[in-house]
Amino acid sequence: MTRNPWSGIPFDTPDDEIAAALADVSVPTLVMSLVHITGDAELLHGPLRPAGLFLNEVQGFMSPEDQQAVRDLALPIICDYRDRGCPEPAPLSADLILEMMEWLVCEPVPAEYVPMLLEELELDGRDSRRVAAPESQAARDAFHVVVIGCGQSGILAGIRLAEAGIPFSIVEKNDGVGGTWYENSYPGARVDVGNHFYCYSFEPSNEWTEFFAQQPELQAYFERVVDRHGIRRRIRFGTEVVGATWDDATGTWDVEVREPDGSTGHLEARAVISAVGQLNRPNVPSIPGQESFAGPSFHSARWDHDLDLAGKRVAMIGAGASGFQIAPAIADDVEHLTIFQRTAQWMFPNPAYHEAVGPGVRWALEHLPFYGRWYRFLIFWPGCEKGLEAARVDPDYRGDPSVAVSELNEGARLMFLDWIQSQIGDDPDLLAKVTPDYPATGKRTLQDNGSWLRTLTRDDVDLVRTPIERIEPDAVVTDDGERHPADVIVYATGFQASKALYPMTIVGRDGTDLRQMWGERPAAYLGITVPGFPNLFCMYGPGTNLAHGGSLILHSECQMRYIGDALDQIIDGGITSIEPRRARYEDWHARCQAELATLVWAQPSVKHSFYKNSAGEIHGLSPWRLVDYWAWTREADLTDFVVR
Ligand code: NAP
Repeated sequence: MTRNPWSGIPFDTPDDEIAAALADVSVPTLVMSLVHITGDAELLHGPLRPAGLFLNEVQGFMSPEDQQAVRDLALPIICDYRDRGCPEPAPLSADLILEMMEWLVCEPVPAEYVPMLLEELELDGRDSRRVAAPESQAARDAFHVVVIGCGQSGILAGIRLAEAGIPFSIVEKNDGVGGTWYENSYPGARVDVGNHFYCYSFEPSNEWTEFFAQQPELQAYFERVVDRHGIRRRIRFGTEVVGATWDDATGTWDVEVREPDGSTGHLEARAVISAVGQLNRPNVPSIPGQESFAGPSFHSARWDHDLDLAGKRVAMIGAGASGFQIAPAIADDVEHLTIFQRTAQWMFPNPAYHEAVGPGVRWALEHLPFYGRWYRFLIFWPGCEKGLEAARVDPDYRGDPSVAVSELNEGARLMFLDWIQSQIGDDPDLLAKVTPDYPATGKRTLQDNGSWLRTLTRDDVDLVRTPIERIEPDAVVTDDGERHPADVIVYATGFQASKALYPMTIVGRDGTDLRQMWGERPAAYLGITVPGFPNLFCMYGPGTNLAHGGSLILHSECQMRYIGDALDQIIDGGITSIEPRRARYEDWHARCQAELATLVWAQPSVKHSFYKNSAGEIHGLSPWRLVDYWAWTREADLTDFVVR
């Protein structure tokens, strides 16, 4: 029998090295491994236990003494396990696993979450999100799928299609994989969801060097996963999908591509999976005079790595999630940095944001049974629905809704404010500039270890909140007439998030152009399918961006399981096409809109946000609990579809 892949690689590490490793680890997670090794539930019943739960807090607020007591307890157990040859631990009972979950996160875990969490944990070593292989090999072979984009969702689509034996091509406009993590190579780019969770459930990595890895490491992860699953030969790099047109007579999509040499090509597909993301096409605002700028200028997702910023006066226009990372990363290099920020950002205190993964943690991830799985759960759970609750508008809340939308939301605001104030010191002008004037979590909340505000307090860095009036050859001029000299302009101004699937032309059954149909109001049933567009499936489609927690990879795994199930039924059922019933789609969109209206992101005091379209409406975000979306996408119910 093959060893459960998560039960750890057997080791012969000496006692003193094990003891040293344990100094690094998450102690509550360590206890989970001990329970697996010993099968002894008594380890959970003593006074040594975590005292609370908070996002990115991995020691459960245990005192240093209690942590040491656990390590002292652990050392002989682990040495004995080593001496016994590291046998594969026996499976634990469902009751004990639930007890472990609740012990680790210091709160009850409702029953409806358990199946989803068990999938995430994969303690049985079984990747239960794989999609079934259609039975008929001939039908499979005749069902070519085109996947558009090779970022995290396109890679996942490729892996699942390969496992199911369905032929496919991934069309990727770049020369490498990773999508966002390929393009956003700006200095300081890093993920803001803990990496031991921000990775495929079936492809954890023990190699992250930081808990929130930087872009090169993330891109390398995706390259590695592509190779491990042998799908690279199915990827057409440097090729861009221009559009796709449905042919009702043949039941196929004609996918038009721009080949690497600029010529036009065509691919025929029985189904198309769009995996283009929502934040891919740069937004560069029109500013009078910007063409006259004499120096280099570029968008954050098109960073010019050949340009040496030393001695340069850099103007950075825009400071959302990207600008927030760029400024601290380049401040040391440039002569002067002027940051133009329209809206101040709320930030979440995360002192460990730039912390390296210690060698002990890496040892534990490699060798201690299920350590990595439980660590994944520990960092996932605090972001599971709690952010949604903090975002929900309480109609009975008595405070000013432009400031906070509930007691809980006010609590978050005060915590964030305290974090800002604790760093600014005695500088009321700066404090006023960096304090947001809208409720906490109303826009994407940034992870912060203090580097942003530290950067703003430098003498060679200015934060300008006055609107920009124009750009001159060597300066950015603000409304108050002040000239801000600049040699380089960086546009950290985000993406064209409201234009879903832009700039592709997708033409459906009756000649309908999808983007014209959508305008700035994209919608898809479950964020995946659209009436009139047979066998077109979106990943990270309309209404699926997560502003409240979880990770987009989790959402992609939900979407791909659903798509895979639909494809299985189509292929085995001899079905030509499916598209969602219009009533189902409209009902879904109406429910999404109604739900979104109850959440802080829709508040009018959030004046500028890529969550909103030009009319102030939200169509990109998911208002749903993760567990609901997970449950709704477990299987594709073909009664929701017009089946031909
Ligand atoms: P963003 O959050 O949309 O920020 C764009 C910035 O440009 C904001 O400061 C925005 O001001 C400003 N801006 C846009 N148009 C403007 C205009 N016409 N005039 C003046 N200012 C303008 O874009 P982003 O920073 O690239 O981040 C986008 C998303 O990508 C994030 O929310 C996140 O989902 C993802 N991301 C994640 C990470 C991470 O994981 N760490 C890092 C980067 C990006 P307003 O705020 O006033 O609109």
